[in-house]
Amino acid sequence: MRAVVFDQYGGPAQVRDVPDPRPADHGVVVRVKATGLCRSDWHGWQGHDPDITLPHVPGHELAGVVEAVGPRVGTWRPGDRVTVPFVCACGTCASCARGDHQVCERQTQPGFTHWGSFAQYVALDHADVNLVAVPQDMSFATAASLGCRFATAFRAVVQQGRATAGEWVAVHGCGGVGLSAVMIAAA
Ligand SMILES: [Zn+2]
Ligand SMILES: [Zn+2]
Repeated sequence: MRAVVFDQYGGPAQVRDVPDPRPADHGVVVRVKATGLCRSDWHGWQGHDPDITLPHVPGHELAGVVEAVGPRVGTWRPGDRVTVPFVCACGTCASCARGDHQVCERQTQPGFTHWGSFAQYVALDHADVNLVAVPQDMSFATAASLGCRFATAFRAVVQQGRATAGEWVAVHGCGGVGLSAVMIAAA
């Protein structure tokens, strides 16, 4: 497949041919149809994330079509339109049992713990736990924004901030998460 690869932190990122990913027993490989660019990709490229090993393919905000399925996956089939949260949970640890998948003790993150979505294909682990179906009438570009920036902003504005009608919300820094916070607060 073709992918965006960097060989050193802060060094040039090049599009080149690399081996296709293979699905884990519990995972899938997704053909990437849309991917976001996030400040966290910049941190990874700068060498701030200890999970990354070189050479590396970034990208963790994605949507696409299931291409290949591991033998222990029950729910998903090739051709399914899907997206994922950027933290892929194991589904069985203590944090997952509490419903806190975002702090799973055995989490994987495409674009950090393994190669990500700046590529034609990306591997996603524990597919039955993590994949989310994308409706036919939602574009892949819209779906790709849900798993990182919108989920992060939703938790801040709705679950932590508990913003309600008639209140003002101030957003300091309108990048991906900030612009999502504006849209969620307005809604
Ligand atoms: Zn992100
Ligand atoms: Zn877990």
